[in-house]
Amino acid sequence: MKLNTSFPKTLAITASILVAATLSACQPASNNSTSSEIVSANAEDISTANKAFSQFSESFIEQFWQLNPGYGVYVGFYKYDDVLPIPNAETKQRDLAFYQQQLAMLNAINPELLSPSNASDFYILKNQLESGIWSSNELKSGQWNPSNYNVAGVFGVILNTDYKPLNERLQTIIKRMENIPAYYKAAQQNLINPTLTHTQLALQQSAGTAGLFKTSIAEKVKSSSLSAQDKELFAQRLAETNKAINGYITWLEAKAVELEQSTTAKDFRIGKDLYKQKFKLDIFSGYTADELFAKAVSEKKRVHQEMIKIADKLWPKYFDGIEKPQDKLVMIKKVIDHISVKHVKRDDFVSSIREQIPELEAFVLKHDLITMDKDKPLVVRETPEYQRGFAGASINAPGPYDAEANTYYNVTPLDNFNDEQAESYLREYNHWLLQVLNIHEAVPGHYTQLVHSNKSKSLVKSIFGNGAMIEGWAVYTERMMLEEGYGDNEPELWLMYYKWNLRVIMNAILDYSIQVNGLTEAEALDMMINQAFQEKSEATGKWRRATLSQVQLTSYFTGYSEIYQLREELKQATGDKFNLKEFHDQFLSYGSAPVPIIKKLMFDDYVNSHK
Ligand code: ZN
Ligand code: ZN
Repeated sequence: MKLNTSFPKTLAITASILVAATLSACQPASNNSTSSEIVSANAEDISTANKAFSQFSESFIEQFWQLNPGYGVYVGFYKYDDVLPIPNAETKQRDLAFYQQQLAMLNAINPELLSPSNASDFYILKNQLESGIWSSNELKSGQWNPSNYNVAGVFGVILNTDYKPLNERLQTIIKRMENIPAYYKAAQQNLINPTLTHTQLALQQSAGTAGLFKTSIAEKVKSSSLSAQDKELFAQRLAETNKAINGYITWLEAKAVELEQSTTAKDFRIGKDLYKQKFKLDIFSGYTADELFAKAVSEKKRVHQEMIKIADKLWPKYFDGIEKPQDKLVMIKKVIDHISVKHVKRDDFVSSIREQIPELEAFVLKHDLITMDKDKPLVVRETPEYQRGFAGASINAPGPYDAEANTYYNVTPLDNFNDEQAESYLREYNHWLLQVLNIHEAVPGHYTQLVHSNKSKSLVKSIFGNGAMIEGWAVYTERMMLEEGYGDNEPELWLMYYKWNLRVIMNAILDYSIQVNGLTEAEALDMMINQAFQEKSEATGKWRRATLSQVQLTSYFTGYSEIYQLREELKQATGDKFNLKEFHDQFLSYGSAPVPIIKKLMFDDYVNSHK
């Protein structure tokens, strides 16, 4: 699912202020806080602090859009849609000063006096500001990642989103094109130390950017009813745009040749120090990067052991009389390949997903797992043409400024596949894995989380929601559903689930191993293919993604591990008074906040109400 489009809610829990008062900075949650320290806070201080925080966050967001108009367009805030900031030193200085000034203002508010909703927003904004300052001062990807500079995305959204009449959108586009030459000029000045990998990515993407203007936008302008004057201005700006983008492409091509021959070119790996910091700021975890890596490695071992047990048991059912391979992982792979032939027909792909949602809802209700709200049903539909990049299925949530829109489950039919491609895809999303996918994307995964967080909206969480919590929840629900008996503990379903889960675990291992430990491509492919049972095409794509991004690939495993662990700790603390549904409902009530913050907000409260 897309991040930054989720809606949080906050539950009015009893004694909320007491709970909020036990929050302390961005430390990993500890559960031994006492409530004696907060007795002194008086009602007036509390009200003043909450008011001050609300004013702060409102004014911060408004100014944030002014500085980041393109990001605004992505989330449906179009007020500054005609502004393209030039990424020069002046802009960078202005942004940094803004973040520093805002952080100082935020730090003047005492988070211990805030309501749970405001307190979690406080930590999210603090993290956002610290992250912005750190990126600018330490990570400095603007100096080494040429793919940071690409104007296509926002122009594409303006062109394809019907938020105002086409002529007005085209006029906005023409106005916004004015800064394109200065934009690419600044980009070249900033890029003092590009990596080859990111240079190649930028080259690939910039070719598409050129096409967007020359073809898609130019055709729309030509066939529009814009005035001759507008069209003339467009022609002039288009010529300047083409020149700027082509100039950038030529520059990148020369750079790529130079970097290929260089022995001192910057590595795409960010290394241990930056990685640790980036993990801390991006993921907002109770674990350090090292701890998380160690956890993933041991979890991989556990999952392998479970898979061996299942595959051993299934072997005679499918390979009666045939000798088992010596290598246990090879045996697992054989069983997986064999049972993957059970899948829906290609023409039934969309309809079978549609049919499954009510079945999942019925299971959740029958087993009393989570409160299911019926007032915003999920609409399963074929992915609209303009959104079809890849085959697959994903939740399309309304943006924070368009909250009344439907939540769609976009499923792309396999129309563009030849027989061989369709067969390979359907084997991957076979009878069993398709169910796990629907749990993850829809019920009780992303869609259900969204419905809960929608009950009380926080603009902060819908714009800066925590990715590890959002993805972690969806991954957590896969395991939770199977543990509660979904699919009647069918061994095939568990085996496929583990294969799917191994991908999440492997993502975390790979990311750290590549960025910190210098894992090579050959080693990475070997790990994915032989230890996580991935097809070569999938593994190659993942290698590429892991060389271009850092930390993001760990978010799924981190969030999942932390949610699962929180649940187990609460079980420990409450014994037979533990109630799964109440845990889920309360957990989801804080919206898309980082799991350590949710833990801080709910742990004592949950324990006290389940004594
Ligand atoms: Zn088949
Ligand atoms: Zn997801």
